[in-house]
Amino acid sequence: MKAIVLHGAGGGQMLRYEDVPTPEPGPGEVLVRVRAAGVNHCDIDLRNGTFGVTPNYPHVMGVDAAGEVAKLGPGVTQWRIGERVAPHFVLSCGVCANCLRGAENICLKFDVLGVTQWGGYGEYLKVGAHHLVRIPDALDFDQAVSAYVPFATAWEALITVGKLTAGETVLVNAAGSGVGSAGIQIAKLAGAQIITTAGSDEKIIKAKALGADHGINYTTKKIGDEVLKLTGGRGVDCALDMVGGDTLKQSIHALAQGGRLVTVGAHGGEVVEIDLIELFRKHVSIHGCGRSTKAIAAQVLQLAAEGKLKPIIHQRFALKDAAKAQALLESRTVFGRLVLNP
Ligand SMILES: [Zn+2]
Repeated sequence: MKAIVLHGAGGGQMLRYEDVPTPEPGPGEVLVRVRAAGVNHCDIDLRNGTFGVTPNYPHVMGVDAAGEVAKLGPGVTQWRIGERVAPHFVLSCGVCANCLRGAENICLKFDVLGVTQWGGYGEYLKVGAHHLVRIPDALDFDQAVSAYVPFATAWEALITVGKLTAGETVLVNAAGSGVGSAGIQIAKLAGAQIITTAGSDEKIIKAKALGADHGINYTTKKIGDEVLKLTGGRGVDCALDMVGGDTLKQSIHALAQGGRLVTVGAHGGEVVEIDLIELFRKHVSIHGCGRSTKAIAAQVLQLAAEGKLKPIIHQRFALKDAAKAQALLESRTVFGRLVLNP
């Protein structure tokens, strides 16, 4: 098969379009013909060698994909050839205590698609039969791959962990990011008032079209002070942050008494100095998450199929142009998702 193959860590020039052996599904595994794959920030970290996990080279990255069942390994009976599926990126063991209670997103012994196993940057990938989620008929492959990780991650963060409810006020950072644009739509569906942040006025206009009530351009205004101004000094009940660094500190400052902060990423700074006095005086709680269950993924795909959540595709690329797609993502001018088509 053709794939983007990494032979070591480095810049965009390390992404080579080559022939590699097509994976062969073993017992209990399924081979998926990839029709669309997403481009994620973690791909760039993995390429650069800053992800924290070094893959076995040669490696095919890509944490998400959508495609069709192409071949069944021995013993697989729950899927048919041609069924439209998306692999879950948490390749859970299926038998540990957390998997058995339905929390396979925090499996005690899991692999990660595109990190510890070959992922979506190829024409085919193989995963265990229990790692697949069915794609509803109303979604095409590009829409499915654009919806899957951002909506599932934002749902887990805002609804499952952040316990956001109707009538509350929420801060959703990075409106242009996959999780940000998804978070705005989910918060709207939940009936919350939404304040969002972005690095340009253009992105804020797009965020308002998705349902944000207020937008803060963080290049010209302080997020914390501006949120307090917008909420009459009260602050927000919940904040979703995927940036880290000063944005995380600003988000804590923006919280109301008893506010919840949910963090799912830290590309803007991984180590943050926190004022504990503000934390305990305001009864603030901080939650980390970022890996949804398959049940949440199936739920958000269904909501997207019903038109209640809208996958945002910024641009499509042929798989061989993965380096161009990653460079565009690094430029921070993207609103929504970048899709690779093998
Ligand atoms: Zn497990």
